[in-house]
Amino acid sequence: FVCVKMAQRVLVADGGNKKTSRVRVAVRLRPYMSKQDDKHEGPCVRGLDSQNLEIVNWRNATETVKYHFDVFHGEDTTQEEVFLSSVKSILPNILKGQNASVFAYGPTGAGKTHTMLGSPEQPGVIPLAVEEVFNLVRATDQDEGWDYSVGMSYLEIYNEKVLDLLSQNSQDLPIREDKDKNILIPGLTHTVISSSCDFDKYFVPATLKRTTASTKLNQRSSRSHAILLIKVVRTQRPLPHRQQTGKLYLVDLAGSEDNRRTGNQGIRLKESGAINLSLFTLSKVVDALNSASGRVPYRDSKLTRLLQDSLGGSAHSVMITNIAPEYKYYFDTFSALNFAAKSKLIVNKPFTRETVAVPVLPVKRAREEQEAAAASG
Ligand code: ADP
Ligand code: MG
Repeated sequence: FVCVKMAQRVLVADGGNKKTSRVRVAVRLRPYMSKQDDKHEGPCVRGLDSQNLEIVNWRNATETVKYHFDVFHGEDTTQEEVFLSSVKSILPNILKGQNASVFAYGPTGAGKTHTMLGSPEQPGVIPLAVEEVFNLVRATDQDEGWDYSVGMSYLEIYNEKVLDLLSQNSQDLPIREDKDKNILIPGLTHTVISSSCDFDKYFVPATLKRTTASTKLNQRSSRSHAILLIKVVRTQRPLPHRQQTGKLYLVDLAGSEDNRRTGNQGIRLKESGAINLSLFTLSKVVDALNSASGRVPYRDSKLTRLLQDSLGGSAHSVMITNIAPEYKYYFDTFSALNFAAKSKLIVNKPFTRETVAVPVLPVKRAREEQEAAAASG
């Protein structure tokens, strides 16, 4: 027992070195949908290459604003391509006792759930990652003498409450930190799974329940953060049975749209405040990590507190910012890009003929529409 303790302490010392890794930022533009564009204005965003995109400048429609990212996924990018370029390479670390997190960020309707969950025909990051974790476990070298066990937890943060999605009547659960700085949630269901099929057995009904409940309750699912945790524990066969735990968080974040602007009131305003607190804190945490500036404010919200040991530090993190090309998303796209961008540049050239012919107007209209929609909704 003493030996095991010591081994763990050595591991912690290894993982705890102060090398802070950046959060990689990818942006995914979903395809243009004419049904999201009543005025037939066409798209206001377009990709340039594998790292850059441009959006019409609302201050001056003869200009565009060009943004630069670690990766840009254009509208033709497949689910497999997103997985391959942004997620697959971090998964082997989970089997070696390291932590990682993958987030989908962006306004409601921009493709977060498509990216993370997808559909049976086009499986997203979650099913592809789970399958890959099992492939990696199967491919491990028996001679190295480790036994692997894979488990899952599934939770939701709603109104700054932590709720267990694998339990029937979940209460708000506490978030704690142990002496080795691991974050834990006492009371959260942890289910051992042996295959992707096994995973589906628990994950699919819980997701279905979450989304059907949401249509009754003001699109709750777009106002809460859905957090899937895949935990891989490996145990060395010889004494002292050294153990390492790797955690992978796969997060479908709440919509990043500005709920103050859309005029929500009462309970919904309270929800917006809570959502904004977690998302606002997440943006501060990512900023602090990527600019290597002093204190990282993990403790300021439930979401960032929960992710503290899996975001920044020695963890591997990627944020996939989802955006939509239609004008009705214009302001929310702008704010999502400003959150995600490493740099931006104003480029003096027209975006399309149409936007030059009707300068600024489409944007004004987009704002009026958003306000009208908010007033009626
Ligand atoms: P969010 O979860 O951000 O609110 P969704 O993932 O539900 O957005 O996407 C909104 C709609 O757009 C859905 O009908 C979804 O199937 C579709 N969609 C999103 N991204 C893509 C994509 N890359 N390719 C095709 N359809 C997409
Ligand atoms: Mg969604």
